[in-house]
Amino acid sequence: MADPGKRRAENVDGPFYVDTTCIDCDTCRWMAPETYGRLGEMSAVTRQPGDEAARVRALEALVSCPTASIGTAPRVPLGDVPASFPLPVTDDVLHCGYHHPSSFGAASYLLRRPGGNVLVDSPRFAAPLVRRLEELGGVSTLFLTHKDDVGDHERFAEHFGCERVLHVADADGPLRRVERLLEGEDPVALGEGLLVVPVPGHTRGSCCLLVDDTYLFSGDHVAWSVRLGHVYAFRTACWYDWDVQIASMERLAGHAYRWILPGHGRRWHGTREETAAEMARCIAWMKTM
Ligand code: SF4
Repeated sequence: MADPGKRRAENVDGPFYVDTTCIDCDTCRWMAPETYGRLGEMSAVTRQPGDEAARVRALEALVSCPTASIGTAPRVPLGDVPASFPLPVTDDVLHCGYHHPSSFGAASYLLRRPGGNVLVDSPRFAAPLVRRLEELGGVSTLFLTHKDDVGDHERFAEHFGCERVLHVADADGPLRRVERLLEGEDPVALGEGLLVVPVPGHTRGSCCLLVDDTYLFSGDHVAWSVRLGHVYAFRTACWYDWDVQIASMERLAGHAYRWILPGHGRRWHGTREETAAEMARCIAWMKTM
């Protein structure tokens, strides 16, 4: 629970506030940009929700905050918001919310598939979310883009009996016990329309999941930057090798997709041609860094 005693002075007056435990993960700012902004090194409420839709989005961000740094005083009832996750992004892609603190608040997604749903990276194992995932048909596969965004993977695997998939180069310690460890740098088919593309760089075992030549679940490999105004990679959060990551980006650019759905950073979507142009721009930018 957020602590009103730690309410940041930067918040505007009103019930919603961010406290000083914020880790600056950006989640609330992209989920409810009309309410939350970045002031100093953290988020703050820059405008109180002005209507019902904004209030719901502000509460969705509150529920998703990995560190429970958002609160309301006097208390604003959560109502149906906790049970509304996962939230639709498209007909078959949903945002799980309930970001996990161990992944620095990375986003995770549910991909609905006739052959069994795929959970991409791990949110918190929160009861309202788990119940909704059950209602949506459960989870057959838990695809882990890399070792940093694994969250509550053991609890999801135990509850749903799903197969976890991770590259062996990121399988440290307990992650050695995941059901399927991928090897090498060649793409691997996970099922019809599901292709894992290894993209070492951010970590040695980073992988993207390409779906139907449409969706690219990119983990922490590539995302859209509001500040730069183009698709980019995290130069200051490259834990393995930047030159290797550039080479991975060049291989990834050889595939077609329209969406980039990252763990951190913002989503991108456009036509395949526009996305290819963004990837080329990203690679050119990376070579200047
Ligand atoms: S979601 Fe929480 S931790 Fe992340 S930026 Fe917002 S207040 Fe801070």
